[in-house]
Amino acid sequence: MTTIPDTLNLIGNTPLVRLKGPSEAAGADIFGKCEFANPGASVKDRAALGIVEDAEARGVLRPGGTIVEGTAGNTGIGLALVANAKGYRTVIVMPETQSREKMDTLRALGAELVLVPAAPYSSPCHFVHTSRRLAEEHDNAIWANQFDNVANRRAHITGTAEEIWAQMDGRIDGFTCAVGTGGTLAGVGLGLKAKDERVRIALSDPHGAALFDYYARGELKSEGSSLAEGIGQGRITANLEGAPIDTQYRIGDEEGYAWVRRLLDEEGLCLGLSSGINVAGAVRLARELGPGSRVATILCDTGFRYLSSLHNPEWRREKGLVEPAAT
Ligand code: PMP
Repeated sequence: MTTIPDTLNLIGNTPLVRLKGPSEAAGADIFGKCEFANPGASVKDRAALGIVEDAEARGVLRPGGTIVEGTAGNTGIGLALVANAKGYRTVIVMPETQSREKMDTLRALGAELVLVPAAPYSSPCHFVHTSRRLAEEHDNAIWANQFDNVANRRAHITGTAEEIWAQMDGRIDGFTCAVGTGGTLAGVGLGLKAKDERVRIALSDPHGAALFDYYARGELKSEGSSLAEGIGQGRITANLEGAPIDTQYRIGDEEGYAWVRRLLDEEGLCLGLSSGINVAGAVRLARELGPGSRVATILCDTGFRYLSSLHNPEWRREKGLVEPAAT
């Protein structure tokens, strides 16, 4: 048994698990990267550490400094834990529509939480613009800028993609995930293509996002909405630029939630809705690639973050989320 030198070294090197139900459904091998096993319980710990280390290396984040960010929550949790471990302060701007558990976690970590109403990106009140303004007003502060700071996707090129490649012994036919900032999809996509350009990279886009139409026919267009937190992008972020996307799926909440439920009921994995959308995309990609294909996806965060929402039957009824038929 080896020990780990410090808590920041707990970020990354997450397990890759074969998912039985999805594999059976697709007649393939579908693997989930257990990002809920990071110390902040989400994939965003990797981007947070990458962004902070990059700012330190460039000399823009100095001792005692403050990290300001706008986030759906998971990046904020990652930044707050990295900041605590390194002696920085965090100011986190978040839409008030995000889960209570994320807000409580951020407060517990000592982050200064600024809640703003949900607003379109074009509005100056949008959480991203609010966080940029706050960063400018603070002394010795950086704006993490996860959407357009490519230190985010670099963490996935050097971390997540390398790990998946090694864990699958280089035998991988496809990879898919949804997009929030695009750091994960673009970073893992670029990293895997550099190993083997035949690895097929697919976007799994929720309703309400504009990327499906963009990659299908070059037009940023969105329709409908999704209850999934942390995903659903309406523009080409710097992290998405040059992402090697071969194909794209549009995945509805019902289809994603059906996988969340099956993984919970049949495999004991408690996940959030973006993970379910990713698994639904992986099943579609594996079916397209054919019997026996090997496909990886991301299990983005823990479902314990959504006990008062997605995993609460009353909340689902209120939101009109259709319960999957018994399998
Ligand atoms: N799922 C969840 C729950 C998230 O919080 C995020 C990050 N916003 C994502 C998926 C998407 O990751 P990325 O920002 O790398 O596109």
